Amino acid sequence: MKTHNLGFPRIGDNRELKHALESYWRGETSQTELLETGARLRKNNWGCQKRLNYVPVGDFSFYDHVLDTSWMLGNIPDRARETGGSPLDRYFRTARGQSAGDGKDNQIPAGEMTKWFDTNYHYIVPEFDSSTEFCLDAQSLLDQVQEAQKAGVRPKPVILGPVTYLFLGKAENFNKKTLLKKLLPEYARLVNLLAAQDVEWVQMDEPLLVMDLDNDWKHMVEQAYQALGSGSVKIMLATYFGSLEDNLGLALSLPIQALHVDAVRGKDQVADLIGRLPEHMDLSLGVIDGRNIWKTDLNALLDRLTPIHEQLGDRLWLAPSCSLLHVPVDLRIESELDTELLSWMAFARQKLVELDILANALNQGRKIVETELEENAKALKNRKKSTRIHNPDVQARLAQVDDTWGQRNQPYLERAKLHKEKLNLPLYPTTTIGSFPQTKEIRSLRLKFKKGKIGLGDYTTAIRDQLKNTIQFQEKTGLDVLVHGEAERNDMVEYFGEQLDGFAFSRYGWVQSYGSRCVKPPILFGDVSRLQPMTVMWIVYAQSLSDKPVKGMLTGPVTILNWSFVRDDQSRADTCRQVALAMRDEVLDLEKAGISIIQIDEAALREGLPLRKKQWDEYLNWAVGAFRITANGVKDDTQIHTHMCYSEFNDIIDAITRMDTDVITIEASRSNMEILNAFDETAYPNEIGPGVYDIHSPNVPTVDFIVTNMKEAAKRIPRERLWINPDCGLKTRAWPETKAALKNLVEAARVLRSAATA
Ligand code: GLN
Ligand code: ZN
Repeated sequence: MKTHNLGFPRIGDNRELKHALESYWRGETSQTELLETGARLRKNNWGCQKRLNYVPVGDFSFYDHVLDTSWMLGNIPDRARETGGSPLDRYFRTARGQSAGDGKDNQIPAGEMTKWFDTNYHYIVPEFDSSTEFCLDAQSLLDQVQEAQKAGVRPKPVILGPVTYLFLGKAENFNKKTLLKKLLPEYARLVNLLAAQDVEWVQMDEPLLVMDLDNDWKHMVEQAYQALGSGSVKIMLATYFGSLEDNLGLALSLPIQALHVDAVRGKDQVADLIGRLPEHMDLSLGVIDGRNIWKTDLNALLDRLTPIHEQLGDRLWLAPSCSLLHVPVDLRIESELDTELLSWMAFARQKLVELDILANALNQGRKIVETELEENAKALKNRKKSTRIHNPDVQARLAQVDDTWGQRNQPYLERAKLHKEKLNLPLYPTTTIGSFPQTKEIRSLRLKFKKGKIGLGDYTTAIRDQLKNTIQFQEKTGLDVLVHGEAERNDMVEYFGEQLDGFAFSRYGWVQSYGSRCVKPPILFGDVSRLQPMTVMWIVYAQSLSDKPVKGMLTGPVTILNWSFVRDDQSRADTCRQVALAMRDEVLDLEKAGISIIQIDEAALREGLPLRKKQWDEYLNWAVGAFRITANGVKDDTQIHTHMCYSEFNDIIDAITRMDTDVITIEASRSNMEILNAFDETAYPNEIGPGVYDIHSPNVPTVDFIVTNMKEAAKRIPRERLWINPDCGLKTRAWPETKAALKNLVEAARVLRSAATA
């Protein structure tokens, strides 16, 4: 039996890649230094993988592996090709619009970024059109193969397969599928070049095979591997993030030498797969969860694997389920988590140790790793019975929840009458999404408080001052529904996670999000409950400063769930419902404190959608159900808002309608309101604020732009139900443009109102 890995985190133990990149971009270090850091990181990574039979090469990237693939294939957008500097500088410009020392003259529009399958990693979207040509330049990969060979490991190059590469790209008014025939000769050359460098196995990633594919895509997979599979190198086709399902037959019919499958998410398909595996094909089982941070149950896994090993012998390979890119690097440097929590977890390096234990047990008998297996069993047992995980009160309360918990008393139209009476808002009410600019001052304030450099009293006073400024500014500007500005929050999930029981935060648990950006997802390890009110004090203070309504501002249960590492010992649905109950308590406390509008953000509802369409309903049912538990316990005269910062609604509009919020604010400014077609009168019965200010850009929208956009909106939705607001929170913006933009927004509302009464 053999072991291998599909990919290792690139960022380094201490985010060395981030620091090296950012200092290069600032012009503080040379390209040589950056390249050296890259080489050092690769060497380190191979070092900690050296016990594997095959080690991934080509998984390292200075920005993104999809962009690397575009570069290797010579698919470079014209706008970057014509700029100066080294190839690496042009590469960075393609990714982020600029490179080291670039002034306005060499800046170009950055490549579009989007999420890699259902992960929180973003890739640079390949661009295709009718003039796209490919021209292989594999030097960088070949060099890395040599580097790995010198480092004494057996390299298995990792290549994004041709079909998935096309699948992930964008093409306007052009059928990108036609490019396969141009692409395949380049891939064939690549495979031959690798063979000439003594490469035995190549890993071709085709994760599109875990998705619903039409016949064209299926046929393309067949065509691609007919062309590549009989070459001079053995091909392992790698699939991950789910089960092959109806694509299994296709995968098994290909002339490839090995197939890797996700045996964590696709556990149920393994038996069938083994039954149908052709003689000539090896099978790689991804048995260690590459998407979560918990220890594997090694003993249970060995029980499962032993008969498979007996049957397949050395045709069996073991690996993590997917690249380890999606988990933090090393638990050993962690200082924030206590020893009990630590003993339940495995980050990337620890996952490789688990793999090694499995391999030793299977190849040489369990005796040889007896101690390790015992320790593993002990850790799992402790976790299972820990009182920190199981909170009988939470479970008892969850058991009481029935449908009525998620229902308002009266339908929207009746509620709207009450809101009109109570809030007395003008036509086209103006509001913002929650956060105001997070200035240096605010961030340093929070940091000082966290580090104990200022006490609670001083901190509270200072934050109150910030809230006061924000409220005064909004009053002066003439907004109708105010916000407190979120100065006390670092991050919309972390802020709540830190205060809820059942969550933990690591100090170094970084995961790459895109380029040099890393995130540190909260770890949801146990039953979730609220220990005390989390926002009431701030919101009530802000409300005390104004006669206008100030919105209570919360993050919804689905978003909290989707942006955290969550427990694997109960369903995501149950975990989400627990979070929902905790947030419901906060909603009710806000209401009790006299807050009449409460916004519950579900920024990440959409990205939690399963990769397979047939699983969408199930997800949306429990996700919407959880949201409703949080939101709908209020009285009818309380107005509930939600916010979602994306614009693709067509396919989930029913679910959004079922949330039954009184008002939804969404991103819309870039699409000139076209996306509102999804929200036509019959489809969305409640109020809606289509964003008219693109907060991702420093540009200030003009009054005219806002008026025009709102008039477009009013063609689709009755104006009595329209709100005027930005696309999303203003936290990343600076004050000058924020002031100018909101002034225009209020002015636009005035123009629209007088046009309406004229
Ligand atoms: N209320 C949050 C804010 O304004 C919402 C952020 C988001 O949707 N990503 O920052
Ligand atoms: Zn948003």
